[in-house]
Amino acid sequence: MSKKVIYLKSSEEAQIIKDNGIILGKAHAEVVKAIEPGVKTKDLDKIAEEFIKDNGGKPSFKNYNGFPATLCISVNEVVVHGIPSNRELKEGDIVSVDCGVFKNGYHADSAYTYMVGEVDPLTQKLLKDTKLSLFEGIHQVRPGNRIGDVSFAVQNFVEKIGYGVVRELVGHGVGRNLHEAPEVPNFGKRGNGPKLQAGMVIAIEPMITLGKRFVVQENDNWTIRTEDRSPAAHFEHTVLVTKSGFELLTTFEYIEEVLENKKLVII
Ligand code: MG
Ligand code: MG
Repeated sequence: MSKKVIYLKSSEEAQIIKDNGIILGKAHAEVVKAIEPGVKTKDLDKIAEEFIKDNGGKPSFKNYNGFPATLCISVNEVVVHGIPSNRELKEGDIVSVDCGVFKNGYHADSAYTYMVGEVDPLTQKLLKDTKLSLFEGIHQVRPGNRIGDVSFAVQNFVEKIGYGVVRELVGHGVGRNLHEAPEVPNFGKRGNGPKLQAGMVIAIEPMITLGKRFVVQENDNWTIRTEDRSPAAHFEHTVLVTKSGFELLTTFEYIEEVLENKKLVII
């Protein structure tokens, strides 16, 4: 675990992140409008990049450690860090879209996994449960609780159902840097890890597999997929620790408006 300094944010800083979270939520929604069989993942990337730039922001991921795109687009067995390409989405795919917005000195980071048309029921349930596990984690966020309480809540929820929890990648603090301390694993023990304090901003992001939890990296040095090629889902919110609990700094509201219109809401 990282022992790096955890930066507490003022209410003004948190508000900047929340404002960026609105741009981010709307960027996601623009992408969702275009998700359908036949669309190329690089075309989705272009939509997000243009939307973020039109709103005065910068894509957080583009050029981050050399990442070449605005979105991480991860299809089916790809867990995270998929690179947008000429790949066309097809009916029955699931696609995770992860995005960050940087504006006024701060980042916001969120992810959502979508169905492309009809998806088999077990995979559909994986999406629903992964999203629920995110909120299990979020509901542990309050001053005095520890990161391990968040981690345990996610792990306990999904492992009871029989899914795998990816261990190699974790959530993180968010602020002036896209990735700050503390690490926020999706597995752990209650009462362990750094104590949550008002002003901390963390990205909670369960990465959950329908099969075994093991992952491998593709030769492009980015794409992370399940070793057994079972489908994986990923949902993420940037969350502020407040004096009384938590506040979401990112939003799924705009995404879910579009999904409702498309009759593709998973819950
Ligand atoms: Mg993210
Ligand atoms: Mg993240």
